[in-house]
Amino acid sequence: MESVNLNPKSGLMDAIRYFSDPMVCLETVSKAKWSKGPMCPRCESQNLSFIKTRRMWTCLDCRKQFSVKVGTIFEDSAIGLDKWLTGMWLLANCKNGISSYELAKDIKVTQRSAWFMLQRIRHAMHTGSINKMTGTIEADETFIGGKARFMHAHKREEKIRGRGPMGKAIVFGMLERETGKVRAHHVTTRRKGELQHHVRENVEAGSHVYTDALKSYDGLQEYTHKVIDHAEAYVDGVVHTNRMENFWSLLKRAIKGTYVSVEPFHLFRYLDEQSFRFNERKATDAERFQMVLNCVAGKRLTYNQVRG
Ligand SMILES: [Zn+2]
Repeated sequence: MESVNLNPKSGLMDAIRYFSDPMVCLETVSKAKWSKGPMCPRCESQNLSFIKTRRMWTCLDCRKQFSVKVGTIFEDSAIGLDKWLTGMWLLANCKNGISSYELAKDIKVTQRSAWFMLQRIRHAMHTGSINKMTGTIEADETFIGGKARFMHAHKREEKIRGRGPMGKAIVFGMLERETGKVRAHHVTTRRKGELQHHVRENVEAGSHVYTDALKSYDGLQEYTHKVIDHAEAYVDGVVHTNRMENFWSLLKRAIKGTYVSVEPFHLFRYLDEQSFRFNERKATDAERFQMVLNCVAGKRLTYNQVRG
């Protein structure tokens, strides 16, 4: 892994000190963004001149001026990279999430800015994998929240008629036992069609899939599907969903303790955040930071996209 001269054992204080130098921040992001050195975003020329006072490049071929923020989650943001990188360090390494109020206080920006930064960093943490999970997979669903604001009016009515606890959002997750990695999705129902679609999208045919006794899992023929009926027991030899449930309890602790409530439209970003930290739990703080940093390019997100 390309290091930022922080060593893998560096902590928050080292990071803050390190990022207090704007040129260091610029080089850190530049290295993560352009593996072969800075490049013009318009014509891809590397024939550039660096304007030190403005910390920007001018393309000598097409005359475009650009900063290291172009084409990254930092684009169009007036907030300095020192604050961005510190915020990224904090979110990559906290235990139970970090609220926009906390971050605003920590790095001295407005709460609104902090909220926006956190959403963009979560966007960088999103790791959409094209590879399917294999081996043994625990699949399970859970309810988050309890506030009616978690859903639209017509959905709320549907819930009252008995498809799930009133006003809760449903999250479906799968955990690959061999790697211990999870994928979690916000779903609208616990119906067969929706849950099985996610299983088939994410799990290689022929794998073992362990679930609870929910009828929606009936008919996963292309898998070795085993059921643990929680009305009878929680573990039957290797057949259980305990590791998935461990992830649920961490997710709920973060949402309840730190975020208090999450708008349904944004729930998937909190799932990305929690999944990222959970999946990379064996890495050091500096390594986790570097992983997020490596994903800042090509993930621009405008304010309108964030707000929805
Ligand atoms: Zn150019």
